[in-house]
This record gives sequence, structure tokens and C-alpha cells, in this order.
Amino acid sequence: MSEMKIEVQPLVGFDQLLTYGVSEKFISTIKIGCLVQIPLGRRRVLGVVFSLHSSEEIATEKLRFISHLVQQEPVLNQDLIRLSKWISSYYSCSMESVLGAMIPAVVRDGMKAKNEKLIQVSPGLNKVMVSEALNRSPKQKKLFSELDKQRKPVRKTDLVNKLGFSESTIKGLLAKGLASEILEVVNREAYDDDLDFDRVDAEWELTAEQKVASSELIDVLEQKNFGVQVLHGVTGSGKTEVYFEAMEAALNQGGGVLFLVPEVSLAPQTVARLRARFSKMNEQVVVWHSHLSGGERLDAWRNLTTGKARIVVGARSAVFAPINSLRLVIVDEEHELAYKQEDTPRYHGRDVAVYRAMLTRAVCVLGSATPSLETFRNIERKKYSVSRLMNRIDGRKLPLMHIVDMRLDARRERGTPILSQCLIEALRQRHENREQSILFLNRRGFNTTMLCTDCGAVEECKDCSVALTFHRTDGYLRCHLCGFRKVAPVFCTSCKSLEVRRKGHGTQRIEDLVSKLMPRSATVVRVDADMMTKKNLFRETLRDFRRGKIDVLVGTQMIAKGLDFPNVTLVGVIDADLPLRMEDFRASERAFQLLVQVAGRAGRGDRAGEVYVQTYAPHSPSIQFSRKPDIEGFLEEEMEMRRELAYPPFRHLIRHIFRGRSLEKTEFYATEWRKVLDAEPIPGLEAKGPALAPIEKIKGYYRFHLFYLTSSVQESLNHLAKKRAIFPLDNEIHDTIDVDAHQMS
Ligand SMILES: [Zn+2]
Ligand SMILES: [Zn+2]
Repeated sequence: MSEMKIEVQPLVGFDQLLTYGVSEKFISTIKIGCLVQIPLGRRRVLGVVFSLHSSEEIATEKLRFISHLVQQEPVLNQDLIRLSKWISSYYSCSMESVLGAMIPAVVRDGMKAKNEKLIQVSPGLNKVMVSEALNRSPKQKKLFSELDKQRKPVRKTDLVNKLGFSESTIKGLLAKGLASEILEVVNREAYDDDLDFDRVDAEWELTAEQKVASSELIDVLEQKNFGVQVLHGVTGSGKTEVYFEAMEAALNQGGGVLFLVPEVSLAPQTVARLRARFSKMNEQVVVWHSHLSGGERLDAWRNLTTGKARIVVGARSAVFAPINSLRLVIVDEEHELAYKQEDTPRYHGRDVAVYRAMLTRAVCVLGSATPSLETFRNIERKKYSVSRLMNRIDGRKLPLMHIVDMRLDARRERGTPILSQCLIEALRQRHENREQSILFLNRRGFNTTMLCTDCGAVEECKDCSVALTFHRTDGYLRCHLCGFRKVAPVFCTSCKSLEVRRKGHGTQRIEDLVSKLMPRSATVVRVDADMMTKKNLFRETLRDFRRGKIDVLVGTQMIAKGLDFPNVTLVGVIDADLPLRMEDFRASERAFQLLVQVAGRAGRGDRAGEVYVQTYAPHSPSIQFSRKPDIEGFLEEEMEMRRELAYPPFRHLIRHIFRGRSLEKTEFYATEWRKVLDAEPIPGLEAKGPALAPIEKIKGYYRFHLFYLTSSVQESLNHLAKKRAIFPLDNEIHDTIDVDAHQMS
């Protein structure tokens, strides 16, 4: 009988470890992290080996045996197994969902590597013989000289598709023995032939400030222990070069590097720069994100697990890339919302990165021009150290920021103007000077808040300090945190003006308007979220813009991030207030981050830039502090506000969503649940709600949510789970927990 028992985590169907026996033939090969097929009930499913035990360690009655060892190489290393357990417990999600995110489908399916046919000139040919043999076949002659010119094997598909040779020409040449065919495992690298970036510098001189920051990072690395270092650098201060110095040090220590960027769209330019820098060290750069093809992903996976590659760059999900002996984790733009996954498993990429670094005793670098309040709080508490880059690389000044008080334009025009006179004037001026402009629109609120265009006041909830949102259907203003509601007043409660507005603008409308206001010769193009799904369209638009084919680019926050356009000298922020008015306590932080980032877009080339910020609340802290910009000033003031309300980062925020097809039923169960919480309150947990979510209905499901503020996530989750287990929820209603929730909608 078997001497060995193993604990297996099934990939589907059962959310706990199950014990199996291992038959003789697998005993010598099975390892922790291996993918195995196991009998489960009447089915056979895949599972991952989480632990190995001798027979005596686990007592079992009827032991079943694994059916099959899928492949000998583990699919998860021990660090990732530990990480998966933490994610499942901290974010209160099933192991199934965590492993689903960690192990790519192609790896689970055991897809084979792709072989490709390559053609090369046969070695040791006699020139005279060759020319005689090819005398009467000009096509073969052409093919031969092409192969000869390339001096290395060429893909057969490239010969056919790119160079236009026919299969029969190739066959003929092979038959004459002048060329030969070889099979090779191809490496499908993402962005392989997409290095179309004008400014890929492999060499540069570090500034004094960059040198200091680099050596601070390298010092931390040399301690060979876990540590978090925040790299706080103003926009354009050259954080990337500092990352690269640290990466080089980590690689020299024999470690692997994980480089996270907030958006997939930012990966190509980072990859290009990384490849330019690290190809000299013979390092491969692996790209990792959810848009990879199965083949690309499998190759990336193999290169990493075999240790052939040690550098990974990618968006959120790259935090799970199977890097061996991880030494350095970089989270660029750590404050970005995009790091938070909004489907199960609802993890935060930055926080998982920090935890993973801790598990492997690696160093985590969090880079940002505008650190999040969570990170700033950890600096204050001395949990994180900080390095600073306070100057732009070439000493250029930050662009001049004009705050445009829209209340004046609104009064003049008796309405709600989209563009102020001074911004229109500035746009025309740039066009005349052959310089480029970006018009930036904040993401629209999901609902509309009530804004007074006379005094700039917004109707707020007195208990939660977030904007109330207006519901057209019943004319109520609602708080989406606590559920408070009142009939929308017809006038502003601050100044009694009747000029209240309840609507934002879309990018389409702005594009149309700008096209109308600008001279005919000006090209105005819009980029928006729909375009992001068409990968090439988005890239082409940015390329055209970079090449100066577009005068004015209109877009949402996606164009505010990390993109570098040297000829842009004007940035207009259409509606700086929108995030301020959203139903979210982080709105002000977000508005500030966006303004600082957007301002960093202007004046990166030789010419100084100008920024116009249109606002109805010119005196709000996010606008005033972004003007200098005074990052720490803002963070300190905002921190005070959060401290008063005991919002994150002072406590954790857990969102509990109830979904159902029936509005009444969903509301009923959310309310009943609240009663359960009130009957015997959970120590240290403050509950708000239930309230109708700002997006009331998604795919036919109504949504109500509750919010819990707590100092201890784990303890609160345990209490909640106990209560939830005996709560008789109707099976038409579903509920989800979102720990450290960022999305309030
Ligand atoms: Zn007012
Ligand atoms: Zn409220």
C-alpha cells in the first residue's frame, strides 16, 4: 500500500483540501505544487498538491488515490501556494477563484509548445555549383540569395507571408539540397516586433538626485531582507531610471524581478525600454497580462519556471507570475485604482505585491508622483521608507496652471458652458503655433450629483461626507454609503440660487464642440474606453498623435497616465470637479492625483506647458494643492479628514453586496442582514447601510450594499462568516464581500 498521502486543493467544485493516496508509480516524481487529476465524487477533476505526508501523519478511513500526475514540473512554487492561502483568507474568496487567477488556463490544459519550421542555406556549398543549379529557376535563385543574405534560419511562414515566396519554390530549393529545414520550439514573445517608440534610450546619465535614490534602493536590496521603499517622484523626475538601477542590482544578486504597471496599455513602452536596457545583460523580458494569447502565455510561463527569464513586466495579474527567487517587486504608479481587481478574487495588486515580497524576503518598491493615502500612512508609521525625486530630469519647470472659475463663465452665459472662453482661445493659439493640446475629461460619475453653478456647492450627506446623487426616476437625492435620502431641492441649499445642474458631459460631445470651435485645418480626435477594447485602434491613435497628425486629443483619464508626448504644450481639464462630486470618500484624493498627473503631461519637450483647470470649486484642497503642486500638503490635509471620519487608511473598508432580480427581495434581505448585525454587534465593526448601489442594476440584477469599517479584517470576517452561515438567504439572492473596497459603485 501507499506510503505517501497528499493534500490536494481541487481546482473546481470543492473548496477545501482533500487527502489522497499516491500509488507507487507517482511516488518518486510527485512534488508540492504539482498538478494532479483526482477522483472527486463521480468526476475526475484537476487539483494542486499542497502538502506531502507520510502515511502515519494523516489518518483516513477510505483513501482514494490520485488518477494521474499531469506533468512533473510543479505549476505553483511554495511561495505562490502560501500567497494563494493568504489571498483566499484575507479577501474572503474561494481557493478555486485564486488558483484560477494564478494558473493560466493553457498551463492547466497542458498545451504543448509550438514547433516551427525554419529554412536555412545548407552549409559548405560550392558557389559555382549553386549558380549552375539555380540557373534556370529565377524564383529559387531569389529565395536562395534572400536566405544567404539573412545569414540565419528564417521562419517558413515569414518566407511565404512576408516575403512572398511560394511553397513550391521553397520545396524546390530543399529538393536540390541547397537549403535545409529545421524544427525549432518557437518563443512567442508579446510585442516582439512592436518597438515603435521614438525615445528608447539604452544609455543615460543619472542626475544627482537619481543617484541618491538609486543607492538608497540598492542599500535596501543589499540587506537581503524584506522591505518596502516608496519612490516618491514628481512627474517627469525619471523614476524609471531609478527602478532600472535597482533591477540591475537585484539581477546581479541572482534574483528575479517583477515590474507592475497599472494598465496593459502602458506595458509596451515599458517593455521597449526594459528590453533596450537589459538585452545587454542577456536578460529576457517577459510580458504578462490578461490579453496574452494562449501560446504567448505558455511560453512566458515556461521561460520563467525554467529560469530562462527573470524579468516580468505586466499589469495587475502579473503579480502571480511564477518568478523564481524573487528579489525585487516594483509597483509603478502604486496609487492607481486599476490595481484593484473588481471581480472575484477581489484582490489589490499592490497589496498582494507587498505581501508576496514579504513571503520571499524581497524588496518592494512603490513608485508614485502622488502616493496613496494608504502608502502615506505607512510612511508616517515608519513601516515604509521613502526616497524622493523632487526635480524634473532636465530641470524644466512644471507647467503653469490656470484655475478657471467656471461659475463666472456660467453666470456670463446663463447656462452650463462646457468650455471656458480662455480655454478656447488657448486651443486656437496652440493650433496656430503648430503645437498640440490634450483635453481631459474625468470619468463620469455613474449618477449625477447636484451642483450649484453659482456658488459651486454640492449637496452632501451629513453623516458620510460624500455627495448625494440625484435619481431622475423618483426625484430623490440619495447617499450611497448609508442609504439616507431626501427630496431634491429645486434650489441650492447653500446660496439659494436656482442655477443647479445635475449632469456631466461625454467625450463625444466635447469632440464635436471642439471641432466646431477650432479652425477647419485642425484635427480633433477622441479616445475613450470603447477604444481600449480595440487594442490597435488605441495604439494607432496615440502613434498618430505622437507624430503630430492630431492637434487636439480628447479623452478620459487613460491619456493622463505615463504617456509621453513632447509636443504637447496645453492641457485642458474640462470638469475638474467631477471626482470631487462623486459618491466616494476617495473622490478628493482621486481628483488630486488626476490633476497632478494631467499637469505632468504638458511641457515635456523643449517648450513650457500650460494647464487650464475648469472648476466650480476653485478653493477645494485638491485643486489648490495641485497648483504648486504640494503633494505632502494635500496628503496631510486629506489625512486629517480621513482621521476624523475614521475612514481608510485608519480603518479597513469592507463592502458587502447583495444582488437579486427582484428589487424588493434584494432590499428585504439586505435589511434583514443589517438587523442580524444590529441584534448582536460585532466588536470593532461599524456597519453602514444597506443602500442602493450607485449602479442600481447590472445585467438584470439589482444591487444593495452595506459597508463595514473595521480595524481587524480577519477578525471581522470570522464573525461575519459565522453569522452569514446561519442567515437564511433566499437562493435567488447572491452576496459578495469586497475587502479593502475601492469601488463604491
Ligand atoms: Zn449655491
Ligand atoms: Zn450617508
